[in-house]
Amino acid sequence: MHAMVLNAPHRALEWTELPDRQPGPGEIRVKVTACGVCRTDLHVVDGELPHPRLPIIPGHEIVGRIDALGEGVTGLRLGERVGIPWLGHTCGACPYCLDGHENLCDQPLFTGYTRDGGFATAAIADARYAFPLGEDGDDVALAPLLCAGLIGWRSLVIGGEGRRIGLYGFGAAAHIVAQVAAWQGRAVYAFTRPGDDATQAFARTLGAVWVGGSDERPPQPLDVAIIYAPAGPLVPQALKTVRKGGRVVCAGIHMSDIPSFPYPLLWEERQLVSVANLTRQDGLDFLRLAPRIGIATTTHRYPLAQANRALDDLRAGRFDGAAVLVP
Ligand SMILES: [Zn+2]
Ligand SMILES: [Zn+2]
Repeated sequence: MHAMVLNAPHRALEWTELPDRQPGPGEIRVKVTACGVCRTDLHVVDGELPHPRLPIIPGHEIVGRIDALGEGVTGLRLGERVGIPWLGHTCGACPYCLDGHENLCDQPLFTGYTRDGGFATAAIADARYAFPLGEDGDDVALAPLLCAGLIGWRSLVIGGEGRRIGLYGFGAAAHIVAQVAAWQGRAVYAFTRPGDDATQAFARTLGAVWVGGSDERPPQPLDVAIIYAPAGPLVPQALKTVRKGGRVVCAGIHMSDIPSFPYPLLWEERQLVSVANLTRQDGLDFLRLAPRIGIATTTHRYPLAQANRALDDLRAGRFDGAAVLVP
């Protein structure tokens, strides 16, 4: 197999030939056909997340077909198309696993961070954490659903039922969530970098009723604001836009420091929460719903060997939607 390997943070990924791996008990081997590039991959490469396993193969939006089954795997078959998400393993025994919050497991493994991911021609996964994808839809188009979609979905659920919903940082996650929220009959307010006319126009094509810079205030107070951009100064900005009792959801795994802000921004029962990881139920719920919504992802294909260019383009904001690596 071949993989793009991170040997140390702040270094470019290296094209590496590795011996073919065999799935252990309970594992599957997947021939990767597409792997999305997530901002979290960028945080791993840039050394912004603590204690990655090194060397590591990044990538946790994996679409592929099972080409080997480990001992004891049930419910999946050879040749089946599956998706492998960020949540790679949980302990099943800690208080969080036992009360339905496996996203907060004390002993988790995360794909592309603490176990090898999908910037490769093949990947090994714990079978219990892979999602059958069926045969509808294109592999490249489906890949961003595996994290941008799943985490986006969880953030939307945690945001609550409010009708007016603000999305800060209109990247891969927001471009999916906007379609889900519009399908639910909610009004999407898209906030981009000030002056980013191209992304604001992109947000309009996905159903946003209002677009503006993150330094702007929408005409009406919002019920909920979800922040996908890793920029702490957006937190007080978002708190200014939500109504009394409104909620601000921080959906990224990493964020720069949040500046201090006056208490009245939080007063009147505004809530500030974060969303971490996903549960398998989130994945099942969202992947069942996605075909009904008819989510159209905007993707940019890169050959696997050009993963570094894809990461650079993501870092620089050179595309709308999501980058996807194709072996
Ligand atoms: Zn991700
Ligand atoms: Zn656990």
